[in-house]
Amino acid sequence: MSHHVTPTPTLYRGRFAPSPTGPLHFGSLVSALASYLDAKKHQGCWIIRIEDVDGTRCKPVFAEQILETLNSYQLFSDEPVRTQSHHTDTYEQHLQHLKDQHQAFPCNCTRQSLAQSAGNHPLECDSTTAEPHSWRLKPSDLVYQYKDEIQGTLVFTDDLKNNSPVLKRKDGYFSYQIAVVVDDHLQNINHLVRGADLIETTAQQLHLYHLFGWTPPSICHIPLITNDVGDKISKQNHAKAIPNGDLPTLLRALHYLKIDLNQPKNIHEALTLAIKAWNPSQLTGIQSSPLEEQDLPLI
Ligand SMILES: [Zn+2]
Repeated sequence: MSHHVTPTPTLYRGRFAPSPTGPLHFGSLVSALASYLDAKKHQGCWIIRIEDVDGTRCKPVFAEQILETLNSYQLFSDEPVRTQSHHTDTYEQHLQHLKDQHQAFPCNCTRQSLAQSAGNHPLECDSTTAEPHSWRLKPSDLVYQYKDEIQGTLVFTDDLKNNSPVLKRKDGYFSYQIAVVVDDHLQNINHLVRGADLIETTAQQLHLYHLFGWTPPSICHIPLITNDVGDKISKQNHAKAIPNGDLPTLLRALHYLKIDLNQPKNIHEALTLAIKAWNPSQLTGIQSSPLEEQDLPLI
């Protein structure tokens, strides 16, 4: 008698995690589509998460608008949408874990004092007793490397040496860095597909995974959509909201993912065809794509 053990296949779990600091813009739609298409190509689960830890910039009304826009493009979360601001206790517990490991330290440096050290936090900070203070991640000599399906093998040598990212701000809000790592782990996210602007945050995130003893997801970075002077299009540089449920907008967004469809009837058909056509290797090595002229009025 023999036992046949069939290993349980690991279900692909991906996510799109917008910050509600404004309505969804064209660049965010491209990112949402990339993560969605990759998940669906792998018969995976795709989740939307609202990253609103920064209570000074995020507004619930924008979260509602973003969800409405995503739904109008038939991009539905396969699980209930997680809202980060509802989970600050969780981030506090994980920050405490880092404090216990002496991997986080208090800091009350000012913008002015940091300007003198060229924006990097000084290696030593003597403000341990002063209140109020922020919490920062301790620098590290560790070198991280991972294989990005689109960008190739990325090696981060000095990224953690002179850098002490804020984990919790003076005003009590948690940083994106800690919240994103904790949530991706708690939600069992095992694939990240996101914009190339986030490459620079990757070493810090891999380091947090290491300190928590967790396995990081596989990560790949799609080209960033830039304006005519090479800046990322974003809410900060006045990218306008995109119209809801607009097939031509969807087709233009797919074009930046190297998917050009031949006159699909509707959004549903376009998404179905796009899942079949999705091939991230066609984006290999591209870190940014300038907006083409016909798309400029969009933003
Ligand atoms: Zn400091």
